[in-house]
Amino acid sequence: NLPPTLRSVVEAGRIHGDKVFLVYEDERVTYEAFYRAVARFALELQAQGLKKGDRVAIIMRNLPEWPVAFYAAASMGAIVTPLNAWWTGPELEYGLTDSGSRFAILDTGSYGRLVEHLPNCPDLQRIYVSREIDEIAHPQVTKLETVIGAANDWIKLPNQPIPPAEIDTDDDATIFYTSGTTGKPKGALATHRAVNSNIMAGAASGARAFLRRGETAPAPDPSAPQRSSLISVPFFHATGCFAVLNPSLIGGAKLVMMHKWDVIRAFELIEREKIQSAGGVPTIAWQLIEHPLREKYDLSSLESVAYGGAPSAPELVRKIKETFPKSAAGNGWGMTETCATVTTHGAEDYANRPDSCGPAVPVSELQIRDPADGVTVLTPNVVGELWANGPQIVKGYWNKPEATAQTFVDGWVRTGDLARVDEEGFCFIIDRAKDMLIRGGENIYCIEVENVLYDHPAVMDAAVVGIVHRTLGEEPGAVVTLKPGATATEAELRAHVAEHLAAFKVPVKVKFWHETLPRNANGKILKNELKKLFEEDAA
Ligand code: ATP
Ligand code: MG
Repeated sequence: NLPPTLRSVVEAGRIHGDKVFLVYEDERVTYEAFYRAVARFALELQAQGLKKGDRVAIIMRNLPEWPVAFYAAASMGAIVTPLNAWWTGPELEYGLTDSGSRFAILDTGSYGRLVEHLPNCPDLQRIYVSREIDEIAHPQVTKLETVIGAANDWIKLPNQPIPPAEIDTDDDATIFYTSGTTGKPKGALATHRAVNSNIMAGAASGARAFLRRGETAPAPDPSAPQRSSLISVPFFHATGCFAVLNPSLIGGAKLVMMHKWDVIRAFELIEREKIQSAGGVPTIAWQLIEHPLREKYDLSSLESVAYGGAPSAPELVRKIKETFPKSAAGNGWGMTETCATVTTHGAEDYANRPDSCGPAVPVSELQIRDPADGVTVLTPNVVGELWANGPQIVKGYWNKPEATAQTFVDGWVRTGDLARVDEEGFCFIIDRAKDMLIRGGENIYCIEVENVLYDHPAVMDAAVVGIVHRTLGEEPGAVVTLKPGATATEAELRAHVAEHLAAFKVPVKVKFWHETLPRNANGKILKNELKKLFEEDAA
């Protein structure tokens, strides 16, 4: 019976008082200080004429101001619209005009990229810019610090409540944009009920893990040390916001932020802040394991390395256990359209099924349907398209009635992922439907080939993409990054795949990439860019 709105989450979080909530560089923000900043900014939005249902965009990398803006706007009945702070000016213009945002809260970098596009965003009435900004030429722009002050001083803000606002659990709360891996990002419109259901889902899965072991979940112990998590994924994607930020606020955890992912900085923070949970996306987990300087740091506080959002090699589970013996590996599957989590997998279960992303959380159901008709439900272990339901599924896409009608059917979301579910309900993601190649009639799942490449001792990063072929349709090509100091030739890597997989799955070409593969903010490899490597060859 979780609170019905985001406002109730921030109100409930205040009980954690002088515990530290947010850590950023040398800034430490307690729960009370956070509440005061939220109340202060909510008053400001009210004074500026914010109306229920107005869209309020947040375009910031992870800073303490991000959650302040998020909960202040949501608590006043706005529809909060976080945009990707990595986007270019034209992409930001798309997000702002698509959502019709009236207010925007930006970091300096995003402001710099957006400024020349402001004339094309006529709905924008007031803009707040956070942190270092010397010159404000634009009359609509306010420096955020002049309203709420510096993070270390939020505790000195007046002790006043968030102003009253009428919000129902079924009102619209957020528009998060999809990652744009398969096309232009789409805004997913979620209610307060949907976003808060993710907290319920997480708690219920935790309890279920105990039940599976024949134990009962212990009651929360108020004297237990505060939990601390490293948040290395952006708040502006569903995972960072709904799977990390929102549950941490209600649970009283300490969230240690990174402005930008950097593995050495992560080691320093884990040591300094005694972090128990780290992870985010699979690449981050790999870097924590494989970095040659890892042993210089005391990382013994780590208890969980969990990830999701992108495919991960089954090998990762064993590596985590080997490297951090006290630590459980965890995987979760979800999408922006499901406000983050639909399946989770952790603790000992995962070691036994390292290629699964776990069963559905207790509030959701999974179905595997025939991709051809989108209706026929397939039997266990047969690969088809994954469909999911549950209270955390969004209402639809903002401004996109056709895409909404295709994707959201009778409370179920069509995921575009190919998967199978075994008799016990464990889900195995096979690939994105769009990533599967058909080579002369034979199906090739890119992930399967990638996982074999990851098994090769010299390989650090790998992606398989389709190369257009005149008669076969498509053939697999691989792009690989080798570990520092390691060597392997194209022929060796092809031979390695041929040892494990049928000949038609062996990449016809392997190209070497000299840094980690290009990824978007969510850790997903930008396969369209890699495809171009092979197109250049053909041209
Ligand atoms: P777009 O929909 O704009 O093309 P996207 O699908 O990458 O972008 P997200 O909503 O961020 O946008 O990502 C959801 C997708 O991420 C899922 O459909 C799935 O393909 C992938 N994914 C998420 N979690 C996992 C996981 N644990 N294992 C494998 N794939 C995952
Ligand atoms: Mg998607």
